[in-house]
Amino acid sequence: MTPVSSKLYTDDVSLLVVLIDTNPFFWNSVKSNLPFSKFISHVLAFLNSILLVNQQNQVVVLATGHNSCDYVFDSSVAQSQNQRAEHLLQKLEEFVDKDESLCREESVDGQGFSLLSGSLSMALCYIQRVFRSGPLHPHPRILCLHGSPDGPGQYVAIMNSIFSAQRSMVPIDACVIGTQHSAFLQQASYITGGVYLKPQLLDGLFQYLSTVFATDLHSRAFLQLPKPAGVDFRASCFCHKNTIDMGYICSVCLSIFCKHQKKCSTCGSVFGQAQAQDSSTPPNPNPKRKTPMDA
Ligand SMILES: [Zn+2]
Ligand SMILES: [Zn+2]
Repeated sequence: MTPVSSKLYTDDVSLLVVLIDTNPFFWNSVKSNLPFSKFISHVLAFLNSILLVNQQNQVVVLATGHNSCDYVFDSSVAQSQNQRAEHLLQKLEEFVDKDESLCREESVDGQGFSLLSGSLSMALCYIQRVFRSGPLHPHPRILCLHGSPDGPGQYVAIMNSIFSAQRSMVPIDACVIGTQHSAFLQQASYITGGVYLKPQLLDGLFQYLSTVFATDLHSRAFLQLPKPAGVDFRASCFCHKNTIDMGYICSVCLSIFCKHQKKCSTCGSVFGQAQAQDSSTPPNPNPKRKTPMDA
């Protein structure tokens, strides 16, 4: 008799890493639509439901602030059920206070943006540690609950995190609670095979979270989850951090520039003027040339 695959009768054990946008500038701008306290009550109910679905499920929460990010909750640390919410709220409050005190300092993108690149990196570090803990680890996924606009200065760091998640086969789900779509998170979900959703009615946030983002990776194969209507694939230039349709890429390190450069600012390659070269001069042995890029 052929053994039955354990997959047929057991659910996936999930490790859900949730990144919560706590940027005070964002929450001040939407407080009439969705106050932060209400948002947190939706999220707490969602996290509890994840932990109830399977006793072995694990939830880790990271706060993404304006100028910093930190772990605020880890369900693998022993706590009673009543203490969980209390503990999370307390850590979250401490984090917001600390982040606010850093507001006066220089940040990557200036006011109004969140340090998403930092919290994505921390989430991936945590997941790598779980991967290395042994062969029987839960299936990880990342959920970004994000509202602040994309920070142009973090483009490279965020893309690197996305490719790292893709390599480790960790889907990045995105639930955008801001007024505008996030091109970074659209690309993150598209590249890593996650779900991107921008809920129409934030009053029903818990409904969206529990019907779309609570599904484990195995069950997703049988469900019709929302597909993105369109993904903004435009890249940002490394020189001015502007979003561009057409640009130049370095053929050595793939850095993107909006204007022709003499030298790559990332890897130092010197770009030759291929067309202007005399036919009597020997061809340049280094593959350093400008390439128009169709983004
Ligand atoms: Zn530029
Ligand atoms: Zn280069």
